[in-house]
Amino acid sequence: MIFRQLFDRESCTYTYLIASRRGGEAIIIDPVLERVDRYLKLLDELGLRLAKALDTHVHADHISALGALRDRTRCVTVMGEQSRVDVVSMRVADRESITIEGLTLEAIYTPGHTDDSYSFLLGDRVFTGDTLFIRGTGRTDFQNGDPHRAYHSLFERLLKLPDETRVYPGHDYKGDTVSTIGEERAWNPRLQVSNADEYAALMDNLDLPNPSMMDVAVPANLSIGMSQREVEAHGWALGCVELRRLRDAPELVLVDLRERGERARHGVIPGSVHVPYADLEYSVGAGGLLHELLAASERRVVFYCAYGERSAMAVQRARGQGVEDARHLRGGFDAWRRAGGAIDAVAD
Ligand code: FE
Repeated sequence: MIFRQLFDRESCTYTYLIASRRGGEAIIIDPVLERVDRYLKLLDELGLRLAKALDTHVHADHISALGALRDRTRCVTVMGEQSRVDVVSMRVADRESITIEGLTLEAIYTPGHTDDSYSFLLGDRVFTGDTLFIRGTGRTDFQNGDPHRAYHSLFERLLKLPDETRVYPGHDYKGDTVSTIGEERAWNPRLQVSNADEYAALMDNLDLPNPSMMDVAVPANLSIGMSQREVEAHGWALGCVELRRLRDAPELVLVDLRERGERARHGVIPGSVHVPYADLEYSVGAGGLLHELLAASERRVVFYCAYGERSAMAVQRARGQGVEDARHLRGGFDAWRRAGGAIDAVAD
């Protein structure tokens, strides 16, 4: 496995770049905007293709690189389902898996620092974001933070992991890089409390100043939906009403870009074909499924995904490959469901 712990000195943020092998797919956790060039260079040097970029929560102390990485690598952006970010490609819930080639991360919902905070377990290591630090814990006094929920996340979820699980935090201000669950249980001063009220009293008395970047970072991090706006401006998007009208037209090819797990969990729009976003490049190329389906000249394609982000990128890519009549469903499956559109169940 390729595993890199990268540091942003400005915000003391740790970013993790992980891949199962050289030349394969990679995932990046909590990337920082100012460091994008560094990440891209490293990906290039290691021959990796960035498949997914993941934030543990909406950050208040630095601007996330999720949007920039998506624009430059067309990776899928992932956050927890509680996050209020305007558009991320994919949202995960507690205990759901995030997969790239050769690797699976399990999402653990750990609210408390914020109400959208997740930790991610990868075998014998856990990425704890700002929920658990080395000899510290994340503050709980803004962004819907809640010390009682933090206590539960720490004691009922993270500390239930095996003692030898390695802890990789979202920040460190002292230069420590890694710890273990057992070590934190024994030596983390914030964890030497006997109940949630005691923890809340401790956290409520910290009296910390707001992070200097907060007023800039939070709004910037809540708004990353660029591709959809560009595609909209070109008139390459359609809404649920129009899709409903078009759906039975024989020339329409409706393509679901989501992953199997998302389809099984939420259902599908009836009559759609499945081409996961990761396979799109291959599928629109000569010999691919989409290439064959679209070979007839009057065929038109409508892509959809969860929220319209992957599908907007797919439209750009398909048109770049000469597919003239490619559009996407604005707002994705989420908008379709809200509009009361028909949904079929599928097995995982
Ligand atoms: Fe944070």
